[in-house]
Amino acid sequence: MQPLEFLKFTPRNNCGECGYPACLAFAAAVTKGGEQPDKCPYVDVSALGDEFATTDHGQDGMEGVEKLLDGKDVALVAYLKEKTSGIDFSQAAEKIGCEWSGAEKDCLLLQYLGRDVELCHKTVTISEQDVEDPRDQILLYNYVSFGGGDAPKREWVGMESLPNSISKVRTLRVYCEERLASFFTDKTELMKTHAAELGAVLDESPEQSCSAAFFISVLPRLPMYVLFWDEEKEDNFPAKVKVLFDEKVMDYLDIESLVFACERMAERWVELAA
Ligand code: SF4
Repeated sequence: MQPLEFLKFTPRNNCGECGYPACLAFAAAVTKGGEQPDKCPYVDVSALGDEFATTDHGQDGMEGVEKLLDGKDVALVAYLKEKTSGIDFSQAAEKIGCEWSGAEKDCLLLQYLGRDVELCHKTVTISEQDVEDPRDQILLYNYVSFGGGDAPKREWVGMESLPNSISKVRTLRVYCEERLASFFTDKTELMKTHAAELGAVLDESPEQSCSAAFFISVLPRLPMYVLFWDEEKEDNFPAKVKVLFDEKVMDYLDIESLVFACERMAERWVELAA
């Protein structure tokens, strides 16, 4: 059985109860990595049939799954490059807040978490290094292929207010907000010190009574507002982070790439401060 066939037995709501961030990842783990199908409480295992029971579902565990998912990511990068091959970069640049390198190179020049990106039709570099992780390429080519929309107004909304985001709220919390909150507990000044390296600007007078708040343009037209409350030991409140988005953010990126952008922001902030 292939992952997409098994996927039909799940409710496809990406709730994460199985321990995987999405139903497709779980389907890959079951069909290629030997994961037990009953880890999803919504799968009717008896409906899978004899063929499922007698098929070898791989013995590589998560390694096999990761190879499979990497293969899918690489295929998606190829698809997005093909999709963007017809875009006139000289016309598209302004709408997505980039510069155009000129006809000779025909690339888009932009900032991604404070680093210089050169995105061409076939190649992309960050800080003059080839981008190895296909997920960064997916994010960057997706941003270009969306083609922009209304300029961000900095009217902030939470992930839960964005369409089709129910399953992503948890992913954002685990891979971005809790990661930042945990690392920067009792380290507000350290967080401020390294914010500028991400291209973030401290909000000197935040409306909410937080320990620190930052405006961060993860990509040129992808501003985020990050609020940090440090722990309050006396009241037993742990540190907390909340990431807010411009209400027009879906004009610029799909929800998967948006959550990945947040994950990268957290990773990079922690790396810089570690
Ligand atoms: S438990 Fe896993 S496979 Fe089942 S619906 Fe939730 S995310 Fe999908």
